[in-house]
Amino acid sequence: PRKFFVGGNWKCNGTQASIKELCNSLNKGDSVESSPVEVVCAPPAIYAQYAREHLRKDFQIGLQNCWIGKGGAYTGEIAADMIKDMNFHWVILGHSERRHIPELHESDDTIAKKVEYAQSVGLKVIACIGETLEEREAGRTQEVNERQLAAIAGKVKDWNGIVIAYEPVWAIGTGKVATPEQAQEVHSFLRTWLRNNVSAQVAENTRIIYGGSVNGKNCAELAKQSDIDGFLVGGASLKPEFLDIVGSFR
Ligand code: 13P
Repeated sequence: PRKFFVGGNWKCNGTQASIKELCNSLNKGDSVESSPVEVVCAPPAIYAQYAREHLRKDFQIGLQNCWIGKGGAYTGEIAADMIKDMNFHWVILGHSERRHIPELHESDDTIAKKVEYAQSVGLKVIACIGETLEEREAGRTQEVNERQLAAIAGKVKDWNGIVIAYEPVWAIGTGKVATPEQAQEVHSFLRTWLRNNVSAQVAENTRIIYGGSVNGKNCAELAKQSDIDGFLVGGASLKPEFLDIVGSFR
């Protein structure tokens, strides 16, 4: 059985005051320590330590990105080694905003290299993939997700240390959540791809989570789908309703 996984991607949001307030409200929920759910919140890097000091200990803290390799003369970057050194265990890689915002424009190859390096230093990875609206409307949903997953899969050494996040770009921050059927169709396709291209065991054990306009109301129906193993939450991870999403595995 795959342990339900809920990630909170705080993106580039927050102040010390707002993060303290968010942590205080999240701290009010029941402990998930002995529940079949794993929770990782990813604040902006500069607030990671601050968030850890204020957030309940049964919620882990992760980072949103890292440099492609070892540290050095890379002004402004954060190396995976540093994340590990600070005792954070998770990093989000390949988020659609990092793929598609023109100033960032990370390629499949860059993302695959980041995944490989992050795993090599012992970090666990939330690896994001997903098609744009244009690609979906052109009937290219499977092709795009397969290409993005294949690039990552080729570099994964530890399948226990990776969660795949399917985040259709058209659903991110738009309020247009994928229907449970739309999400399940892609998740099932991805799991079959893993079975055919990696192994039956990896397909069975790897968590494939959904992201894109998930909220406290729509999470329950999505969570019932057989191949949806959790969520990566943006906007709603900054609100107390994140706790309802954490509880949706029930
Ligand atoms: P929203 O939940 O705000 O749509 O964002 C999803 C996301 O990008 C999580 O990584």
